[in-house]
Amino acid sequence: MNVLVINAGSSSLKFQLLDVDTREVYAKGNCERIGIDGSFVGYESIAVEGKQKLDVPLPDHKTAASYVVDIVQATGKDFIGIGHRVVQGGWYFPESKIVTDESLGWVREVAPLAPLHNYAEADVIEICRELFPGKGNVVVADTSFHYNIPEKAHRYALPRDVVEKFHIRKYGAHGTSHRYIWRASKEFLGDDLHNLVSCHLGSGSSLAAIKDGHDMDTTMGLTPLDGLIMGTRCGTIDPATVCFLMREGGYTIDEVDTMMNKQSGLLALSGISSDSRDIEAGIANGDPNCKLAFDMFYYRTGQLIMEMAQSLQGFDAMAFSAGIGENSPTMRMGVAKELEWMGVKIDEEKNAIRSDEVREISTPDSKIRVLVVPTNEEYMIALDVAELLG
Ligand code: ADP
Repeated sequence: MNVLVINAGSSSLKFQLLDVDTREVYAKGNCERIGIDGSFVGYESIAVEGKQKLDVPLPDHKTAASYVVDIVQATGKDFIGIGHRVVQGGWYFPESKIVTDESLGWVREVAPLAPLHNYAEADVIEICRELFPGKGNVVVADTSFHYNIPEKAHRYALPRDVVEKFHIRKYGAHGTSHRYIWRASKEFLGDDLHNLVSCHLGSGSSLAAIKDGHDMDTTMGLTPLDGLIMGTRCGTIDPATVCFLMREGGYTIDEVDTMMNKQSGLLALSGISSDSRDIEAGIANGDPNCKLAFDMFYYRTGQLIMEMAQSLQGFDAMAFSAGIGENSPTMRMGVAKELEWMGVKIDEEKNAIRSDEVREISTPDSKIRVLVVPTNEEYMIALDVAELLG
């Protein structure tokens, strides 16, 4: 059963055509720099040899989507429907839902909570309904997995009328990835796994506390700014810092927003880059700021893993995933060392292995089993589409 998965950002449109039964990918690619000079479509497909790059103007998402139509049609594969990754599902998507006029309206209604993503995603859903007539569309929201975490975990200690009026709560993010990480970890560990701390560590990073497939807590909050130190995001800080900077520093609200989302995190700490590879190279050259950036990343990640463990009342395993979690033995070891006091031990040789497979990297006597799980959000989205439209 084939599904087309679409992941639209404010200036990009990623796509993947895959078979949910065999997991075979027939075409995948990314339309980049939509609405910006230097736009192009990069893709691979069973219809052509090797990686392709079309240097074409992409003034808007509709133009980008028309290239996706051509690329998908060239594979000669039909598909049952289209799954759309939506960053913020708000209070309307406790699970994935088929797109109707009403549910499309919901994606826009909750867009103020994720303005850079939801508006573009809603536009692209509308475009797909037009360009692929007769195909069903499904919204798969990144927040769904976190929707049913207990109230004590998702409620903010703010006045009730404010919380209710503005729908303020912990929504979390990366839910589709955490759901996949649970699934793959359970397949790997079987009955040995009940409580998992899922560690999605990429340029955006979050943890989830998962008990028998149900999310109990997560580190991102109302927005994806909360929690861990990320590539360019500061993660949790005293919220009064915002008021202080505005009152005493003369910053506008937009300047503080940009500072905390785009100019902070590993980039600000290292002073050179948001990419962990550059920072690792900086450490090798003796740069103390790069060392501090990694030390803080380990410290905060270790602390928040313990926070997740507390909400699970103990854990059997933790799983590293996403760009850093899957590819950086140094970062995995650094985080694990923070947890050595409570018996987490990583085997250096296993940790050094590079692979696309789920694998265990803890020592046999480690109190917690440590896995590396390459995430696959597209597959998870496709599974939801197969379930709803198949
Ligand atoms: P996102 O999807 O949130 O944009 P990714 O999950 O792709 O981010 O993670 C991107 C980050 O992963 C990069 O910034 C880099 O720090 C890290 N990363 C990717 N590949 C490697 C690698 N081979 N070694 C170390 N770190 C890596």
